[in-house]
Amino acid sequence: MKITVDTNLCEVHGDCVVAAPDIFDIGEDDEVVQVLDAEPGEEHRATVAQAAKMCPVAAITIEG
Ligand code: SF4
Repeated sequence: MKITVDTNLCEVHGDCVVAAPDIFDIGEDDEVVQVLDAEPGEEHRATVAQAAKMCPVAAITIEG
């Protein structure tokens, strides 16, 4: 599984951080979300899928 975030779309809503805090993070000065682990193991699939679903601007893509 590979995660990409369209940084042109991300508006730093933070829904993905709430859904999958091990994978996404937003620091105080960040203008787009940070992907902590772009190729997480299968055990993260459910939370990453939830994060992608919750993103209000559909910025998160999951491949594989
Ligand atoms: S939920 Fe979407 S818009 Fe919000 S921080 Fe995550 S990727 Fe960016």
